[in-house]
Amino acid sequence: MYISMIELMKKAREGHYCVPAIAVENEHSVRAAIQAAEEKKSPLIMIALYKVNPDIHYFGRIVEDLAIRAKVPVAMCQDHGGTYAEAMWAIRAGFTDVMVDRSTLPFEENIAQVSEIVKVAHAVGVGVEAELGHVGMANQYETDGTGGFTVPEEAIEFVERTGVDALAVAIGTAHGVYSGVPKLQFDLLAELREKVPVPLVLHGGSGTGDENLKKACQMGICKLNISNDLKRGAIANLNEKCKDGMGAYAMYPLLYEGYKNVAAHYMTLCGSEGKA
Ligand SMILES: [Zn+2]
Repeated sequence: MYISMIELMKKAREGHYCVPAIAVENEHSVRAAIQAAEEKKSPLIMIALYKVNPDIHYFGRIVEDLAIRAKVPVAMCQDHGGTYAEAMWAIRAGFTDVMVDRSTLPFEENIAQVSEIVKVAHAVGVGVEAELGHVGMANQYETDGTGGFTVPEEAIEFVERTGVDALAVAIGTAHGVYSGVPKLQFDLLAELREKVPVPLVLHGGSGTGDENLKKACQMGICKLNISNDLKRGAIANLNEKCKDGMGAYAMYPLLYEGYKNVAAHYMTLCGSEGKA
C-alpha cells in the first residue's frame, strides 16, 4: 500500500511511537527497506534527496511499483527539497510527500516559500514537512549542534500560517557523523510536543545513540530520519563477510543485508514494529 507519510505519522502520534524514515537511493535500497518493514510488520517511510537520484521520474516508478506490492503501508518523501522545482519533480514522480527545507532563510521568507509549495502539494494530496530552527552538520557539531534550536512560539505560528503537515525540529541532533557527543534538549522537545499541533520530525538520527533516540521517540517524535547509519551498516557487513576475492560476487547481497539489518534495528527502536 502506497500512502502519505502524514497518515502514518498521525497514527504514530496517537499511538505514542515513531516511524523510522529510511534513506533510499536506488532499487536495492528500496527493496531492502521494504523487506525490513515487512519482516517487522512496521509501517515504512522512505526518504530521498533529489541529488541522490536526479532521474527522479524513473526512480518514482520503481518506488511506486514496489510500494504498491508491499504488505505494509509505505510512503515516499523527498528529503530536503531545496528549490520549488525539486518539489514539483517529486510530486510529478509520484512521491507521496515532500520535505521543504528553507530553514536557513529568515522566518518570514521560510513561511512564504513553504506556503507556496503547501498550496500546490495539498491540491494533489501530497503531504508537506518543513523545518524550523536549523539542524546543522554533525562534523561541525561544536557550532552547529549548540544553537539554532526551534522556538516553540515561532513553531506554533509557522504551522498555522503555512498549513504544513509535519515539522522538523532542531533539538540538538545534526546530520552526518558527529565530532563530539550529541546532547539533546529533551525539555524543549516536551514543550514542542505539547504546543505544536502537527507531528514532529527528527533529522540527524544516525550516530545520536539508541538511548537518546528511544527517549525522543517516546516523547513525541513521529518520524526519525536515518541515513548515514544505513550506509555504514551496509559497508561494515560487506567488509566483515567478503574476506576473499571470490566473495566479491556477493557484493550486492551483502550490502543489501547490512542495509536491511540497520533499517530493522530502527523499526524496533522506534516502536513501529508490529504497528503495520
Ligand atoms: Zn535532514
